Amino acid sequence: MSTNMLPILPGATLGVLGGGQLGRMFVHAAQAMGYFTVVLDPDPASPAGRVSHHHIQSAYDDPDGLRQLASLCAAVTTEFENVPAVALAALAGRCTVSPAARAVAVAQNRAEEKAHFTTCGVPCAPYAVIETPEQMASADQSLFPGILKTSRMGYDGKGQARVQTPAELATAWDAMGRAPCVLEQLLPLALECSVIVARGADGHSVHLPLQRNLHRDGILAVTEVYEENVPLALMQQALAAAKSIADELEYVGVLCVEFFVLEGGRLVVNEIAPRPHNSGHYSVDACDVSQFELQVRTLAGLPLTPPRQHSAAIMLNLLGDLWFAQGEAPQDPPWAQVLALPGTHLHLYGKEQARHGRKMGHLNVTAASAAQARSTALQAAALLG
Ligand code: ADP
Ligand code: MG
Repeated sequence: MSTNMLPILPGATLGVLGGGQLGRMFVHAAQAMGYFTVVLDPDPASPAGRVSHHHIQSAYDDPDGLRQLASLCAAVTTEFENVPAVALAALAGRCTVSPAARAVAVAQNRAEEKAHFTTCGVPCAPYAVIETPEQMASADQSLFPGILKTSRMGYDGKGQARVQTPAELATAWDAMGRAPCVLEQLLPLALECSVIVARGADGHSVHLPLQRNLHRDGILAVTEVYEENVPLALMQQALAAAKSIADELEYVGVLCVEFFVLEGGRLVVNEIAPRPHNSGHYSVDACDVSQFELQVRTLAGLPLTPPRQHSAAIMLNLLGDLWFAQGEAPQDPPWAQVLALPGTHLHLYGKEQARHGRKMGHLNVTAASAAQARSTALQAAALLG
């Protein structure tokens, strides 16, 4: 198959590497527009595999599975950044692939990611690469207290340790098996926010509104999106930074850029995700074009029109812990009561087992005003325990 037969029109087949909840929502958006879908994921019960027209149950680096994927699809995207580079390379040349292997590789590695931010002139936390005992021993005093993060495979706060002193750094690095890491200065955060950019192959990009994010134990808990959320100047700065990060990568697809706003108001970039993001889930119910429709449009080479947010929105992540609010045996949360609140939209990912810390779904709350969204979200949170 040629690699530049864009646009790929409805009726064609689109594929996704990875079968988690992000893949599931991509499949929903693609199918709504009339595409056929293929998911590649080894798990027979994967959230996306269950709703897709086709599910190839193979490892991400299995040549047969990838061959099958390429032969079925006009274009393939990914839903997680730790997809093996060989998988994207194997697909490239056989079908359209976006985002490209290079952009995914940058997002996979915190050291490369930070070097990219520097290239773009977008400030990030002061940091040092820790890959050798010498680099560890010479870590600058100004980086303490700091956070040691594995360069690869970290997510939801996993693969991180807070370190107060060089001695603690040494212990933490040993505990991480001396894997390649970055040590970041611990910054005084006033708030966290993120921006989702969708960029087409022609370089044209659009974005969703700035999202304000609250994390609990390193996992996203709540996203709030309404006009008076963040000062306008900060919003414009974040949008410009996100756009330059995407442009500099010649990125094609949906990209999420996470930011910190420091006490004192300075904006610094934290990390990027080469895919739709948990903090963009509100867009399904609160915007006229969702982050997943943007993913379909960028993959298929369809026009990108600026998304418009039509409702104030709050998203509550639903972790497995909620299933254990009543005791040790898992019990469904009181959905009917939650859904009796106006403007509540339940999204569950079809995962069979609730576990502590596992993302089971999310609840979007939409309303005409920020105050109303907040009031409903508080009532929903109280019901969920
Ligand atoms: P992950 O890939 O797990 O999302 P992040 O680098 O985004 O990793 O870190 C998770 C959370 O930890 C952030 O959202 C933020 O709340 C906190 N955090 C990370 N780095 C710093 C830092 N340098 N200073 C202060 N807080 C941080
Ligand atoms: Mg993060």
